[in-house]
This record gives sequence, structure tokens and C-alpha cells, in this order.
Amino acid sequence: MRRHQFIVPLALLGVLSFPARAEGRDISRDTLPANDGWASYGSGTTGGAAADDAHVFTVTDRAGLVRALDGGSDTPKIIRIAGTIDANTDDRGDRLDCADYATDGYDLKKYLAAYDPRTWGAAKPSGPQEQARQASAARQAERVELTVGSNTTIVGLEGAVLKGASLQVKDATNVIVRNLELRDAYDCFPVWQPNSGGLGDWKTAYDNIWLRGATHVWVDHVTLSDKGHPDSGEPTYFGRNYLRHDGLLDITNGSDLVTVSWSRFAGHDKAMLIGNGDTATGDRGKLRVTLHHNEFASVVQRAPRVRFGQVHVYNNRYLVKDGHRYSIGVSTESALYLQNNAFTTPGHIEVADLVKSWNGSALHDEGTLFNGFPVDLLPIHNAYNSGSERDLTADVGWTPTLHTKIDSAEVADRAVARGAGAGRIP
Ligand code: CA
Repeated sequence: MRRHQFIVPLALLGVLSFPARAEGRDISRDTLPANDGWASYGSGTTGGAAADDAHVFTVTDRAGLVRALDGGSDTPKIIRIAGTIDANTDDRGDRLDCADYATDGYDLKKYLAAYDPRTWGAAKPSGPQEQARQASAARQAERVELTVGSNTTIVGLEGAVLKGASLQVKDATNVIVRNLELRDAYDCFPVWQPNSGGLGDWKTAYDNIWLRGATHVWVDHVTLSDKGHPDSGEPTYFGRNYLRHDGLLDITNGSDLVTVSWSRFAGHDKAMLIGNGDTATGDRGKLRVTLHHNEFASVVQRAPRVRFGQVHVYNNRYLVKDGHRYSIGVSTESALYLQNNAFTTPGHIEVADLVKSWNGSALHDEGTLFNGFPVDLLPIHNAYNSGSERDLTADVGWTPTLHTKIDSAEVADRAVARGAGAGRIP
């Protein structure tokens, strides 16, 4: 499409001489349009649009990005990412791999030998190998966790990629992340949790983007994936997949007023968790999120899984592949409002596989398209849900009012296929 023939000349002229632009327009100071989802509520979301010239940065490596982020300060700032930045690098920009972080004798073979459930049992890992794992993990976290403060806009220039990082908006407000590919937030040191999910499971640390205690956040035209290290290529230990990635975009701990638009979630297990605990009652009345015109391609689960929040999910495109567990997760006190989403699945994945509920009680659904045919998710869920799941009612107790034009699922499906993800801001 469109711009391919211009990529080579732009590169020859040197990307640094160009502002973050889409079709020739500088997007650095864009703000969230009025009524565009929950992040437009009240004072809206302007990110770093008020930055003075001294706080507009173009960064090309981790060190520059860290300097621009300024320890999560709330000074209005615009950070433009150029080229590929790898978070797993030292201060000189040299690549760090898992062996570089490993310390205190951490060794995966020894870790597996120490905590094999057949000999160790179901107690939480403790002792030298677990201590060494924690110390090693802390060394990686110090490199890859990047804190984003209030009043910040992060935009990618043409082709920008942030690798291995976990962007964390913590107890901050008014943040925009746009036009950026974030890939492979790879955890070198997963921890074994013997009591997770009955059979035990591996817990990994990093989300590509993690919003915790974050309000007024707009994530737009980003591409989020495990590219480089797909979890499908990881081995199984203790009978469980040794996952290297946690969420692509998790929204937890009282976060509120978030719009996620025109983004691509691709090739990943747990894409988006909204609310991370059934007992986190401080999330009640918060976790209000709008998801529109996003593509969820080859996502296994959590697209999204919701607790507590009023979450509007409209005009999204789902490309379901083998290995899929569910798409929409209805958990404690969630109030999901689905409108005009399109699902495309292989033949053996059925409508009843799209929704899963745990302690959820309601789900609003309308205009869903399944392999080109209109379907009603709710009665099908209630007819075919498994024994542990409750029937859901249609009354979620609210009706969204903050949204852009809602298209039919068919129209949205085509528009998202063309327009979602980094590099596609019109
Ligand atoms: Ca997470």
C-alpha cells in the first residue's frame, strides 16, 4: 500500500531529520480527540503536548530513552523513538543476554532439579537457587523496566521498535503511547509457582506495557508481540509451558480512564489483563477502558480478561488460531460491553469458545460477526458453558457514551486489517 515506494528515499535522507510523522504530519503533539473512549473523560488525555522545546527528545538507544524519561518525572515531555532500541543493553549500548544477568550461581538445570514437584512438593520455592533467581531477575528488571511519568507522550518515528522493554506507567496520569512497535518483553528468569492453577505454573515478570495506578492513558497504533522469541518455541518443564512473556498490555491496580485504539496484539499467550485480583476491591468503580479498532491475531487468551471494570469493546478484529483458549474473559464484577466485533476462526473453534467466565455475572454483546455470520454470544455461552462457569445476564448496568463512530463489524474488520498497528496512522 501507499507509502512503500517512499521508504527508501526517506531512509537515505536520514530519519533523525524528520519529526514523528504520519503521511507528512507531525503527530508528536496530538491529543486524544473528544469522546474517543474512556481516556477522553473529564480533562481528557493530552500526554506531553504542553512540553517546551527543551523537553522534546529524539532518542536512539536505551540510555537516551532513560534520560528522556527522567525517572518518571511529571514534567511535560515528548519522547520520539528512532530506529530500534534494545532494553537489554548496558550503559554503553552493548547487548546483555540472560547469562550476563545470572548471578549468585543461578543455573536453570539446578533450579529445575531443586524445585521438581516430585521431590520438592508443592511448597513455594525457597533456598539458594530461588534466591539466586531473584537476584538475577532483579538485575534484568533494572535494565528492562522503564518508568513513564505523568504528562508524557512517547511516539515512534517511522519503523521504530522498542525491544525487550516493559514500559510501566505507575501511579501517573496523562500519558500517550503511539505509533510504536514493542516486542519481546522476555523474562530470563521465570519463577515456578507450585500452587498456580492447580497444576502449578511458570510466572513471568514483564508486560510490554503495564498500567498500574495509571489514569488518562491513550495507547494508539502500537504493535505488541513476542517477535523474536515466540513462547510456542519454549520447552515444557514440570508439565507446563516455560512461558517467557506475561501480558502485552496489562491494566491493573486502580488504573482508570484508558483508551486503546488501532493497535495490534499478535502471536502471544495472555494479551490483556484488566484487573489482576478477585479480592482487589479497590478496583471497584475503576478500570474503565475502551478498546476499539484493535486486532488480536493469534492470541491464546485474555483479549481481554476483565475484573471490576466497565470496558467497552467495539469494532475489534479477532484472528483466532490453533491453541486458542478463549478471547473474552468475564471475571469478578466485570461489566464488558461488546459491540460489533468480528471473529475469524479455524473450523474446530466454535462460538462457545470465544467467551469464558470466572465469577462473572453479566456480558453485553451485540453485532458480533463470527466467520462472516451474525451470532449472539450470550445465549451460546450460557448453553455450552462448562460446569464451573455461571450463566451470564445481558445487563451490565451501563451504556457507553464516550466513543467514536461505531461501524458494523464487517466494515470495522476490513478497516482494522488495513489500519491497525504501528506505522499506520493516517
Ligand atoms: Ca502482567
